[in-house]
Amino acid sequence: MINLFKRLRGGIHPPDRKQMSAEHPIRLMPFADRLVLPLSQHIGTPAHTVVKIGEKVLGGQLLAEADGHFSLPVHSPTSGKVIGFEDRRVPHPSNLMAPCIMLEVDGDHRAVEQQGFDDFEQVPKAELLAAIRSCGIAGMGGAGFPTDAKLKPRAGSAIETLIINGMECEPYITADDRLMREHADDVVAGARILAHLLDNPGRCLIAVEDNKPEAIAQLRQAASGSEVEVLELPTKYPSGSEKQLIQLVTGQKLPTGRLPSDIGVMVQNITTTVGVFRAIKHGKPMGARVTTVTGKAIANPGNYKVLMGTPVSHVLKETGYQPELSSRLIMGGPMMGFTITDTEIPIIKTSNCVLAPTQDEFGEVDTPQACIRCGRCAQVCPMQLLPQQLYWYSQSRDQDKLQRYNLFDCIECGSCAYVCTSNIPLVHYYRAAKGDIRNRQQQQQAAAGAKKRHEKRMARMAALKAERDAKRKPRRESASPDAGKTETLES
Ligand code: SF4
Ligand code: SF4
Repeated sequence: MINLFKRLRGGIHPPDRKQMSAEHPIRLMPFADRLVLPLSQHIGTPAHTVVKIGEKVLGGQLLAEADGHFSLPVHSPTSGKVIGFEDRRVPHPSNLMAPCIMLEVDGDHRAVEQQGFDDFEQVPKAELLAAIRSCGIAGMGGAGFPTDAKLKPRAGSAIETLIINGMECEPYITADDRLMREHADDVVAGARILAHLLDNPGRCLIAVEDNKPEAIAQLRQAASGSEVEVLELPTKYPSGSEKQLIQLVTGQKLPTGRLPSDIGVMVQNITTTVGVFRAIKHGKPMGARVTTVTGKAIANPGNYKVLMGTPVSHVLKETGYQPELSSRLIMGGPMMGFTITDTEIPIIKTSNCVLAPTQDEFGEVDTPQACIRCGRCAQVCPMQLLPQQLYWYSQSRDQDKLQRYNLFDCIECGSCAYVCTSNIPLVHYYRAAKGDIRNRQQQQQAAAGAKKRHEKRMARMAALKAERDAKRKPRRESASPDAGKTETLES
């Protein structure tokens, strides 16, 4: 048997603290009075609204249409009234403001009639992809990439291995674990639809860390007799990140700048897989998601089915948040999440966890000291980067060196910061440096675009002038006093 641990370089074993929420079955969170629905819960252009202020809407009704290939529509999670369009703070590490639809919930739970497909194998694939798109399904585990776009791999790159990512390796978070335990049939059915859409890859597997034995048992039962395989993998953070998971499962390393589909692999998240199943089987857009609400400052930790757009303040109120005990609030897990500074931000498709730890859970945040070049960060980096060098060059803003040291291969897993002897918040530096480089690249692209437009305009004007001159020439010549003299003399 292959030692799968050997395939995964670096990584850490932080205390997983999942027991606080893992044993509570999924509970429906009471609805908030108002929902905040960002027009962009996906990578790509924001959707554009198709409703008016004051309009009454039903659950599942289209509120905003997709605007382009990487954009997705937004639906109403329940019935209510559109009460405004506002720029609101949305879940993002940089505290972004973004356009949102404000919805007043009426509590009547009325919904539009939705229709799915009984037998997906009898439906043309283009129709299935259109259904996934029109239900607004996006990757729920990362940046929110539209699932239909991801399912159309680039020409010539056939998918050999489909991996449904049930690893959920980040401490505290148990939303996928509960989903796999309680809805294993939906996960397997979603995996089968995805496999069908990818022309049945040689392997279709659900990868789960071995610290989730009940989920593994439920999935194995649901998958028995089907082509879906359930693979139990060793627990080690960050084995659930896409690149690490691919390496663990296939032994292949994804080269820098390449997509998994380039090496014949596709990874889909558990919640996304269930979303695909419900979109195809029931025609249902994703109006809610399971979010883990946990930490010792939460009186009733657990996994809650929360309507999209529910403000975090409502989530905290319903779960017995005790602010006097809380050291901070985090959206996501302790390793890759970000600090919540405004509790009015809404739950969106990618909100897998709201974490409220106490001081003793995380300990004092020690003041960062100077780097002592101990090298511990490099030992744990799963991407085999040199975190210490990246830190130096981030500080000196040496963008060329940062790119040479493959800053963009950093998956922001936080393993280096976790072990740092000097308590340096390394990932903050990398995120800021990536932002600076992206800004510079955008500025350079804008300048190059402006130069190209200017050159085209000059060329157009030169061509027009040449055309005008060419038209004027015969007129000028005929108007000249010497015009026709030669012919006269000769004749
Ligand atoms: S450098 Fe990036 S990928 Fe490496 S350990 Fe640090 S955060 Fe993770
Ligand atoms: S672990 Fe911290 S102190 Fe040690 S080399 Fe890395 S950045 Fe420097």
